[in-house]
Amino acid sequence: MDRRQFFVKVSGFAAGAAGTAAWLHARPANGSKMVKIVEFSNTGERTGVVTVEKVVKTNEEWRKQLTHEQFEITRRAGTERPFTGKYAETHDRGLYRCICCANALFLSDTKFESGTGWPSFYQPIAKENVINKLDTSFGTRTEVLCAKCDAHLGHVFDDGPRPTGLRYCMNSAALDFVKF
Ligand SMILES: [Zn+2]
Repeated sequence: MDRRQFFVKVSGFAAGAAGTAAWLHARPANGSKMVKIVEFSNTGERTGVVTVEKVVKTNEEWRKQLTHEQFEITRRAGTERPFTGKYAETHDRGLYRCICCANALFLSDTKFESGTGWPSFYQPIAKENVINKLDTSFGTRTEVLCAKCDAHLGHVFDDGPRPTGLRYCMNSAALDFVKF
């Protein structure tokens, strides 16, 4: 192999590698993340585990979709004043979905009277459907987010009733109630 042949071989390889790199970059690179959640029908039946693309929107898009209060709470981690939310006193049978993305979050069977003025549940409808995140803004608390769209829902505390001992303290404004 003389120098010229060698050069052709090397440059041919380089072109091939560059072509592969170009192909890799041609694939969607929008940073979309997949998330595994459990889906439920509007009558509360578990219909299966699905892997879906995480719902990502700009603040401008969320503002168009939500009321001012819903936006402040779900997208900016606000808290509604106690006893003002529309579901604090709700006792009907049904399912609570995320106001932002309709992900199923809580069943009425697990709702209890906490006396706090916020709708309270002792467990989520499926552990996959919520995310717990450390929140150190006022002492140490555990923030609860929607797993599908990262909406702020409220906080979870360990002073709840049996069987879990947990109290999911939610904002009504983050929820959408579907009556059975
Ligand atoms: Zn959501």
